[in-house]
Amino acid sequence: MARESPLRPLIAGNWKMNGSVAALAEALAVRDRLREPGFAPGVDVMICPPAPLLALLAREAAPGRLLVGGQDCHALASGAHTGDVSAELLKDVGACAVIVGHSERRAEHAERDIDVRRKVAAAHRAGLTAIVCLGETAGERRAGLTLAVVGRQLRVSLPEHVRAADTVIAYEPVWAIGSGLTAEPGDVAEVHGFLRQALLERCGQEGGKIRLLYGGSVKPDNAKELLAIADVNGALVGGASLKAADFLGIVAACGA
Ligand code: PEP
Repeated sequence: MARESPLRPLIAGNWKMNGSVAALAEALAVRDRLREPGFAPGVDVMICPPAPLLALLAREAAPGRLLVGGQDCHALASGAHTGDVSAELLKDVGACAVIVGHSERRAEHAERDIDVRRKVAAAHRAGLTAIVCLGETAGERRAGLTLAVVGRQLRVSLPEHVRAADTVIAYEPVWAIGSGLTAEPGDVAEVHGFLRQALLERCGQEGGKIRLLYGGSVKPDNAKELLAIADVNGALVGGASLKAADFLGIVAACGA
């Protein structure tokens, strides 16, 4: 099952609605470790803090390897949308990517695949990489619908033209997010293999270059096994991205 992935892995941390100005010290510790020669040189590392912290972190992260991303964006570039943030503004304050379609957005804000697709298009319009999340609920897995659900999410959530440079897919089984449960390696391999095949059919050769992240209770002690699975090209990390030591442990497991 395990094999060398030809794609440069990405470890992305999603801070969700956590953090503070003081907590940016954890992100700066990650930045500093990444500046040390020889530390996981083949791995891309990103932190996606809450929007108010993004400009601060982006300013502190540069120059260096630590990438900064947003957690969501509006589909439009500007306008009367109180509380929302445009992809253009994320780009303007230093983000290079934005997470879209996270299951918490889908569940708490009733985002549908078609809404996610508009946000992916917005990210691309603004010059951001879209990290597109998909994954089945526990009920859907029990009902044997996992591949049908992620297949539909992939098909509908992506605009017509996607490239490896502007799109990353994150497979996150909803029941594994924040629960301490992780999917079995065989199940992860099955879903990632299915998504890779779907991307190849849809995008030709380019589909083989689009990174597929796994997300759902990734921790330093399970990262190595999960990241060794075929077509797992990195991880989207929630809780374990809040502490530099944990997050760096995952980066180190990826780079080892
Ligand atoms: C996430 O929310 O994207 C996530 C994977 O969270 P956790 O790592 O805490 O399960």
